[in-house]
Amino acid sequence: MNCPESTFIYRSHLRSYRDLPLRLAEYGRLHRNERSGTLSGLTRVRQFIQDDAHIYVRPDQLTAELEALLGEIREAYSWFGLVPRFAFATRPDKALGDPALWDRAETIIKDVLDRHGGDYAVKPRDGTFYAPKIDIYIDDALGREWQMATIQVDLVMLPERFDLSYIDETGQPQRPMAIHRAIYGSLERFIGILIEHFGGAFPLWCAPVQAVVVPIADRHNDAARELAELLRSRGLRVEVDDSSNRMQNKIRVAQEQKVPWMLVLGDREIEARTVAPRSRAGDQQPAVGWQ
Ligand code: ZN
Repeated sequence: MNCPESTFIYRSHLRSYRDLPLRLAEYGRLHRNERSGTLSGLTRVRQFIQDDAHIYVRPDQLTAELEALLGEIREAYSWFGLVPRFAFATRPDKALGDPALWDRAETIIKDVLDRHGGDYAVKPRDGTFYAPKIDIYIDDALGREWQMATIQVDLVMLPERFDLSYIDETGQPQRPMAIHRAIYGSLERFIGILIEHFGGAFPLWCAPVQAVVVPIADRHNDAARELAELLRSRGLRVEVDDSSNRMQNKIRVAQEQKVPWMLVLGDREIEARTVAPRSRAGDQQPAVGWQ
């Protein structure tokens, strides 16, 4: 877990009410001793990276922090065309901590979810023993449901076990709340889900290779490298297929790899300093000039 590390940073200073919220992010490497039979592709692995953060808040800041988080999660999933669904997991039978504190936190979470569209499920008594939580789900392009990351409002574990406090306006020590949150969760798992969701055909902006330059014959290789270099200098991820394959084979390979764009260069294109982009779906765009 990444959780305890942030408490040491928290405790490295005396914290005032003015220091909160304190947001500490960590892309830490995590391990799970999964049995070999349960491992699966990228979606269940033994070592992974999680986009973790721990946010220390005063109780009066919880509402604003949760609202900001739900908006952040919606935005971060929208970049991939995914719509997150939320589920509210409430106090389990064996909960630790003051029941009044649980009631207060759960009221705040419910209120935030109600105002944030209100389209969430409730999983009664499915919270952890130290935190009510919001679980995030998505449906991929094939209609399969995936559980993604989670937001836990930790009332007990980090604040009490690690004896965290802040000094309030009157000089008294108070206990903060700790929000454990990940947006994508395991990045390996998220990438695995994305590969399935897009069927390998990533949108242009996140395709590992965005374009392949296809020289028709060996004598076009230098110009192909020049065009690729020009595009790389503009920040695009471009490769040149200078293999000995015939042009039709090169195009087929690029299509199989679902590269968004193919740029075919022959005598005519090099002479005119133009290229006509061809999409992976086979659409031919008008020729454009390059220098
Ligand atoms: Zn944590």
